[in-house]
Amino acid sequence: MHELSIAMNIVEIAESEAGRRNARIEAVHLRLGPLSGVVKDALLSAWELACENTVLAGSRLVVEDVPLVVYCPRCKAQRTLDSISFLCPECQSPTPDVVHGRELEVFALEVGDAA
Ligand SMILES: [Zn+2]
Repeated sequence: MHELSIAMNIVEIAESEAGRRNARIEAVHLRLGPLSGVVKDALLSAWELACENTVLAGSRLVVEDVPLVVYCPRCKAQRTLDSISFLCPECQSPTPDVVHGRELEVFALEVGDAA
């Protein structure tokens, strides 16, 4: 399962960070874009399994959805899209230039007491 290996990658990142700070990780905050290729629900359900037998067991994965933002060359402006259509909602021009939406990144860790 694709999402399980991604979850395990995130666990590894958080584990090494926990080791570096000598802290227990309570929650991992992740930014996820619609073009990341990752299904949020599948990732969330894989989380517990990925954390098994690691220092992250019992931690939470908090996913923040990143909107799909493109640059419209005709409007010369950034536009937020509601669907993955790649058309400017204002002028209907094609907008292949993705500004946000591919994110799959850990941006914060909630740490508890020292492990
Ligand atoms: Zn436009």
